[in-house]
Amino acid sequence: MPDDHAKADTGLPGAWAPLGQYAGGVWRTGQDAPRDVVSPGSGDVLATLRDASSEDLDGAVAAARRAQTTWADLGPVVRGKTLKEAAARLRAHEDELAMIDALDCGNPIKGMRFDVNLGATLMEFFAGLTTELKGETIPQVGGKLTFVTREPLGVVARLVPFNHPVMFAAAKIAAPLAAGNAVILKPSEETPLAALRMAELIGDLFPEGLLSVLTGGADLGAAICAHPGIAAVGLIGSVQTGRAVLRGGADTLKRTQLELGGKNALVICEDADLDRAIAGAVKGMNLGWTAGQSCGSTSRLLVHEAHYERVVAEVATAFDKVLLGDPTLETTEMGALSTQGQYDKTRGFIQRAEAAGARIAAGGLRGDIPDRGYFVRPTLICDVDPDFEIAREEVFGPVLTVLKWRDEDAMIDIVNGLDVGLTASVWTRDLDRALRLTRRIQAGYVWVNDASDHYLGAPFGGVKQSGLGREECLEEMLAYTEAKTVTVVSGG
Ligand code: NAD
Repeated sequence: MPDDHAKADTGLPGAWAPLGQYAGGVWRTGQDAPRDVVSPGSGDVLATLRDASSEDLDGAVAAARRAQTTWADLGPVVRGKTLKEAAARLRAHEDELAMIDALDCGNPIKGMRFDVNLGATLMEFFAGLTTELKGETIPQVGGKLTFVTREPLGVVARLVPFNHPVMFAAAKIAAPLAAGNAVILKPSEETPLAALRMAELIGDLFPEGLLSVLTGGADLGAAICAHPGIAAVGLIGSVQTGRAVLRGGADTLKRTQLELGGKNALVICEDADLDRAIAGAVKGMNLGWTAGQSCGSTSRLLVHEAHYERVVAEVATAFDKVLLGDPTLETTEMGALSTQGQYDKTRGFIQRAEAAGARIAAGGLRGDIPDRGYFVRPTLICDVDPDFEIAREEVFGPVLTVLKWRDEDAMIDIVNGLDVGLTASVWTRDLDRALRLTRRIQAGYVWVNDASDHYLGAPFGGVKQSGLGREECLEEMLAYTEAKTVTVVSGG
């Protein structure tokens, strides 16, 4: 173990301390300036890591190129079995990984146990899809055969955000590995610990160098995007970073998958089952999972005017009841925001909304929040116009904005009036209206009388500036392959 990575006594499970950078199958001390990994629930420093250097990146890419052909040649069945074994090892370390995430990202441990299992489930899902890397045959004249095969791209990188550290670490390496690629994973510089622990747990299952986990911030991400030895980049992150990734990959024409942000609408219609719709509006915020820091959170609530006051009152009551606390405790219902930056940003949005004339119906900057850590109470903001900042910009925190509507066309204009379109949710008992609204709403994923849940195999992704491509489905794996067309002319 590199000797400058001594662990502070911060309660990481099993006295575990990160070993540094997992580059090309070996652990190396990064070479850039040290960076503290802070626990958002307490403000304690969990570890100090040096970012991966450009030499670490070059070494990881070179090792990945060597390992990739070995891995691809093992074939779909062995690759699938190996990924299933990796998923089993993650499940066997559920408690430990969930505790690392609770400490590192501030989400409650219950939700992070779910995330360990969700990451493992997505790994198993792609493990089971390796034999679906199928091509096709094209009708030909006699004596000729034309067929298409799917080949891995080579070395691909996955850049992931801070909000679901272990889940994204596990889930996002799975599809490209299943397709026969080598993967360089860059977790968020804010929450790198679970990805590093994952590398310790599963790294030896793969040919040496096939999987690297490099930690660092935007500079490392930019170096990955520009690296000529990397064929593709898949980003889960903000719209702004999505633009940077496209620009950064332009010179090397990187294949790019982007899962970006949203300001997702939840629409309550006049005929909705109101009790269920109100519960859905609370559930759609993912407060207990990530304190609202989920891309799919339905953070714009559009309520038909007939129900506006009741919905505001009942959602506010539900928000007020949420028990904030230490993310490592089983009883905690909502944890801390993941970073000081998220905390400051969220409070800034609330302050500006109030200054612009909005009413804070629950939460806000007051309240009985723990006195340490980055806690913001679930906040309900109402009496806003559609052009308020709080009605248009992604907060990525526990802040729900309520708008009133009367006319369906005007409501649709509000829903579709942004440059993003990730998810949406519609609450109605009228099937015709439900289907009409799902057609009219510009979003990559629309729930009817439901919110938040993802379903295995169901494509997830955004329209407009919420992203490029679809994930959590066959399309994600195929995105990390290239079609090769072969024509064979037989002699006879
Ligand atoms: P972010 O965009 O700041 O960071 C995401 C990753 O990109 C991190 O690893 C970061 O270090 C890296 N990065 C940052 N700048 C970069 C650059 N210039 N070049 C290359 N890499 C760079 O996102 P975040 O703050 O960690 O996460 C929050 C955002 O992620 C929100 O906008 C949220 O909606 C989005 N998100 C989307 C999904 C989805 O599936 N659509 C899921 C989760 C989060």
